[in-house]
Amino acid sequence: MKIIKKVLDVTTTKDEQMIDITEMVRETLIGTSIKNGTLYLFVPHTTSAVTINENTDPNVKKDMLYSLKQSFPIEKEFLHFEGNSHAHIKSSVIGNDQTVFIEDNDLLLGRWQALYFCEFDGPRQRKLNLQFVGE
Ligand code: ZN
Repeated sequence: MKIIKKVLDVTTTKDEQMIDITEMVRETLIGTSIKNGTLYLFVPHTTSAVTINENTDPNVKKDMLYSLKQSFPIEKEFLHFEGNSHAHIKSSVIGNDQTVFIEDNDLLLGRWQALYFCEFDGPRQRKLNLQFVGE
């Protein structure tokens, strides 16, 4: 069994954004030559996240970002000195990690699923840690 770690650079261009990273991750997987196993994705930031959702209708991610903004607005009462508590909360709600099975050197995603890097306090230069475990 092999364990291969990779770090991807993700450049975000908006204050809040969901970037489809599926192909970037798939190409990295192909480069590892791991046929079967598990991929762990981890975002080492406190105001961004990683999730899996629909990639067909671009309005899904717009609706998700809109709903998060409605659910976790910027509040005057927030105490955090950076003024970005809404982004910290969204990061925790969406989450810092995902797990995807690997089969035949491909990501075992559902037909309508894509991997998204979620920015909540951009634009910034971000990292995404990948760990491939398998053979
Ligand atoms: Zn902060």
